[in-house]
Amino acid sequence: MTVLVVGSVNADLTVRAPSIPAPGETVLGEDARVSPGGKGANQAVAAARAGASVALCGAVGRDPFREPALSGLTRAGVDLSGLHHLDAPTGLALITVAASGENAITVASGANARVTPAHLPADLRGFTHLLLQGELSPEVTREAARRAHAAGLTVLHNAAPARTPDPDLLAHTHHLLVNEHELAAFASAFASGGEDVAGQARDLLAGGPQAVTVTLGAQGSLTVTGDSAYRLPAFPVTPVDTTGAGDTFCGVLTAWLAQGHPLPDALHAAGVAAALACTRPGAQDAMPSREELAAALA
Ligand code: ATP
Repeated sequence: MTVLVVGSVNADLTVRAPSIPAPGETVLGEDARVSPGGKGANQAVAAARAGASVALCGAVGRDPFREPALSGLTRAGVDLSGLHHLDAPTGLALITVAASGENAITVASGANARVTPAHLPADLRGFTHLLLQGELSPEVTREAARRAHAAGLTVLHNAAPARTPDPDLLAHTHHLLVNEHELAAFASAFASGGEDVAGQARDLLAGGPQAVTVTLGAQGSLTVTGDSAYRLPAFPVTPVDTTGAGDTFCGVLTAWLAQGHPLPDALHAAGVAAALACTRPGAQDAMPSREELAAALA
């Protein structure tokens, strides 16, 4: 095993409807579809599909949503020996997609919210990279980063969804990954004087990370390190559904770094994989295989 993901596992329950219901309104939609989701699971699947050896630490319940929540992880060959089965409901995201393409999402965290530092793996030997997101409790995420940092792993943290930034977590992060919205949360919490995205990202390096990547949707990504900046335009595609693009980017970047590729190559592969994920509907189902990514990079 080289990549450890500590993160959320959900079942996504999606209904397409003419519109998002207003408060108090009922809208009749189409058949509900259940698919695997959760940022932790999505990023673990993306990393495994990109060829890395991946293990996931997190939690699910013992209810009927457990099986669909785990289906993508199992198919991708992610090691689930560190997954905990708790007496709590499996995390569930209730997603309404309107005909306009807008969506409204309510997440019932369930078992994800019951993960404590006691559930973290005692032994980190064999892992080189830890990948974190923001869907477990801040206490668990911070402790995972601290232990991995102390054990010599490279810690990547995708600070999504946006929440109040944690200076202690930042101090134990080697590579921070944010979108523009999440970057703004950091810039305001740390009173960054940076005038643009690059300036704000560079300011965050003072808090601990050696690299900060800002994903910019159809504009690609920007990465700053102590002595370099990499501005990568998006790989041109006709997007069908951008759900999971950010998760694909984070998982593939981590997989490529764990496989020993230099940062610019890993960033390029992550951008191409994320673009390919935009060409198909869904999150995990849309992520490219290693062969498909290799063909696009050739
Ligand atoms: P999400 O939460 O929807 O997964 P995000 O906000 O975390 O997304 P984005 O910045 O939207 O992340 O996208 C991540 C990466 O995916 C971008 O840096 C880019 O490489 C790729 N990407 C996103 N949208 C497009 C697009 N329309 N065309 C090509 N690549 C895209």
